[in-house]
Amino acid sequence: MRVVVIGAGVMGCAAALELSRRGVGDVVVLERAVPGAEASSAAAGMLAAQVESKSDDERAMFVRARDGYAAWATELRELTGVDIGYKKSGVLELATHGDELARLARVVGDSRAAGLRAEMVDVAGALAIERELAASELAGAAWFPDEAQVDPPRLLRALVAAVARAGVAVKSGATVTSILEEGGRCAGVALDGREVLHADAVVLAAGSWSSLVPGVPSALPAVRPVRGQLVMLEERPPRLSTITFLDGAYVVPRGDGRVVCGSTMEDVGHRREVTAAGVSAILAAAMRIAPGLGAAELARVWCNFRPHAEGGPQIGRSPLPGLFLATGHHRNGILLAKLTAEQVAGALLDGVA
Ligand SMILES: Cc1cc2nc3c(=O)[nH]c(=O)nc-3n(C[C@H](O)[C@H](O)[C@H](O)COP(=O)(O)OP(=O)(O)OC[C@H]3O[C@@H](n4cnc5c(N)ncnc54)[C@H](O)[C@@H]3O)c2cc1C
Repeated sequence: MRVVVIGAGVMGCAAALELSRRGVGDVVVLERAVPGAEASSAAAGMLAAQVESKSDDERAMFVRARDGYAAWATELRELTGVDIGYKKSGVLELATHGDELARLARVVGDSRAAGLRAEMVDVAGALAIERELAASELAGAAWFPDEAQVDPPRLLRALVAAVARAGVAVKSGATVTSILEEGGRCAGVALDGREVLHADAVVLAAGSWSSLVPGVPSALPAVRPVRGQLVMLEERPPRLSTITFLDGAYVVPRGDGRVVCGSTMEDVGHRREVTAAGVSAILAAAMRIAPGLGAAELARVWCNFRPHAEGGPQIGRSPLPGLFLATGHHRNGILLAKLTAEQVAGALLDGVA
């Protein structure tokens, strides 16, 4: 059986690896740029299941994804020698006023009711977890000790190495210009308008460009880009140790002095620009969380596009038989990659066999 995967981000690579593990002998990943070129290497890398989920069902799915990561990190290291930077660094979500404290108390209560670890802490408790916080503004915080992180560029390096070892063909510079339909089912793809690649199944994993691939069924909700800018600071020596949120902004210390600070949520299409206003807002928020970051070196700024789909991620079957979906993961695609790969491989092998 031949499966063609469109896009070599975290979704395309993870799906290709899973298909190959389940015995699909001919998997081809087509990437118009280079593997991991887009959102997947640009992400902050938080596995923030309890903090990011918006419903009980979503929390259950996110937690399952998060809790599977330690084993995946070990597996990828054993396969490739690449350490993806998995760390259970916990998330501290800060409140500066009573309304926010009340909201956090509800999130903590819901987590605990679901059997997960979470607790409200007072200012002294928050400082005991992360002593670099700005105590003056703080009213209290919620602590989620089981939240974790990975280093996305390393994750992509590991995945690309793993798929290569598994015998998957990854073609860079290969732009899919249409999904082919024959007899009411997906029959493959056209490349650069000329070459045709026939396949038994196609997986659409083109991130925020997914709706732009000609031939995508019009019944699917559009996937649109939500731009996010990020700033990398470097503290010497490293001081921060905990992922910390305040009013939607966050700092993600990698543990070695690098601190990823984010992010914006912008509806500007695919405009690949890091803006003065974006960087200024991110830095102001980061220094509100930990004033000591003002002395850190500004190492790098970048942006990319979260693939947002109305109604949530599109995973598995599509209205066109033979076309499968692994897209629309918005803010949580790194978190959901392995779980999505398993769901897509399951649906595909079920639907094509
Ligand atoms: C600023 C920011 C911070 C984030 N932080 C987090 C976080 O902390 N935790 C988390 O879980 N998630 C986070 N995310 C979200 C996460 O990065 C995405 O959900 C995830 O990377 C999407 O992966 P993907 O493979 O679908 O898309 P992408 O990584 O964008 O990959 C899609 C690939 O498809 C290729 N492609 C597109 N069109 C074609 C075509 N026609 N032919 C061939 N190839 C094509 C592209 O070149 C690209 O390489 C963040 C995202 C951003 C932007």
